[in-house]
Amino acid sequence: MINVFGAKITEVEREEVNKVLGSNWLGIGNTVSEFETAFKKRLKLPNFVMVDNASNGLFMSLKLLALPPGSEIILPTLTFASCAQAVMLAGHRPVFADIELDTQNISAATIEPCITRRTGAIMIVHYAGLPVKMDPILDFGFPVVEDCAHAVDSKVGDRYCGTFGKLGVYSYDGMKNLATCDGGGVTSEDAELMERARCLRYCGIAKSGLENSKHKNRWWEYDIKDVFPRCLPNNVGAALGLGQLKRLDENQATRKRIWDFYGEAFNRLEWIKTPANADAGEQHSYFTYFVRLLGGSRDGLAKYMLEKGVYTTFRYHPLHMNPIYDSDAKLPNSEVLNDTGLNIPLHPNLSDEDVNKVVEVITEYGKQYV
Ligand SMILES: *Cc1c(COP(=O)(O)O)cnc(C)c1O
Repeated sequence: MINVFGAKITEVEREEVNKVLGSNWLGIGNTVSEFETAFKKRLKLPNFVMVDNASNGLFMSLKLLALPPGSEIILPTLTFASCAQAVMLAGHRPVFADIELDTQNISAATIEPCITRRTGAIMIVHYAGLPVKMDPILDFGFPVVEDCAHAVDSKVGDRYCGTFGKLGVYSYDGMKNLATCDGGGVTSEDAELMERARCLRYCGIAKSGLENSKHKNRWWEYDIKDVFPRCLPNNVGAALGLGQLKRLDENQATRKRIWDFYGEAFNRLEWIKTPANADAGEQHSYFTYFVRLLGGSRDGLAKYMLEKGVYTTFRYHPLHMNPIYDSDAKLPNSEVLNDTGLNIPLHPNLSDEDVNKVVEVITEYGKQYV
């Protein structure tokens, strides 16, 4: 089966992981610090704190904003469930905004109708790694959390995504552009906020015993400052991250090559709409290849591809359509995509043969059924 998402692990990552295994210190330690320094440097981030995954990073970011309980947080409906769960867990109310059909991104135009006097913050997602147009959104004046789970290599000019809002959150889950055995990170220009993030990730404990032992008698006594679940990263994940960071450019080049190959093949088929490219001066991350299928062909194509050994999916079943959030929103663009959108295989472990097969199967389906 050709999978829709995936990671590529090589000798480079194995070597980093073996170093950690050989050290017999698996939990948080020097390798996490090393990854934090390297990631911060690569993306030119002012501050950076690694956590156990992006879902918790989003929850932490909302906690750090310290908004009044029950504040409304505007977020795109076309995103992963953990975005809305973070809002609920932080004691706020998710207000779902539509996305633009051609970019799958939230925009100032889709956010504006959601603003009320209870609005506390806006969460945006750079879908597939295409940078969201941030300036008009920042102009609304609310704190913005950037979900950069797809956008680890995305930038506008010299500035990486994650540095435009109040906080930015990255994901290193096993199928993201920088893949580890789960991990994430939070950035903000506000150093004090980032100090609090370090404390939150360790159950609200201000300093570890080891840190305290340098200047304190009874260094084992805690100073618990906040209430938060444990969200610590570990050295094994950080080692994978160091290896993946060394090979990020290589993997990104593979993703772009596949992206361009698909574009050339599918632009010839009038029943497929290919995804938007980044504008001049912007950089895309090519996390996923999202196509729109005209003429009611989506479900048929997905099933046909599955039968031929190509796994596809649709990301994301719009959150406002899930009864648990009790939303009465009508978000037409997302609802159209819910019937017409499909994510097809794009990841660095696809061979040329795999990519050719994806194109062949889709082309064949078109000849037979469209
Ligand atoms: C993957 C993903 C997350 C969650 O990241 P984890 O590290 O898996 O918790 C959040 N938002 C989006 C858009 C994602 O794709």
